[in-house]
Amino acid sequence: MAGGNAIRGTRVGAGPMGESERGESAPRQRVSYWCANGHESRPAFALDAERPESWDCPRCGLPGGLDEQAPPKAPRNEPYKTHLAYVKERRSDEDGEAILAEALAKLRAKREL
Ligand SMILES: [Zn+2]
Repeated sequence: MAGGNAIRGTRVGAGPMGESERGESAPRQRVSYWCANGHESRPAFALDAERPESWDCPRCGLPGGLDEQAPPKAPRNEPYKTHLAYVKERRSDEDGEAILAEALAKLRAKREL
C-alpha cells in the first residue's frame, strides 16, 4: 500500500509528459519582420492569433514590416513634413487672398468705368 503511493507521487512530480503536452496544445508560428536597417526579427505567435502588420525592431527600435524589400520608413521626419505642409497651406491662403483682392479691384474698376 505505502509503496504504491510513493511511486504515484514521483510520477506527478517529474512530469516530462506534461511539458510536451503543453507544447502541442499551443502551436506557434515564427514570423519574419524587416526594419529599414535590414534587421530581421522573428517573434513567435500562436497559430490561431492574427499576426500584426508591423513589429518594432528589438535592435534599433524602428518599425519592421513583413516585406523584406519594402520595410516601413522610420516615422522620425513627420513633424518636419507637417510643419512644411502648414507653411505651404498658409502661403497658398495668402496667395488666394491676394488674387481675390485683385479680382475685386478689377471688378470695381470696371463698374466705375
Ligand atoms: Zn533594426
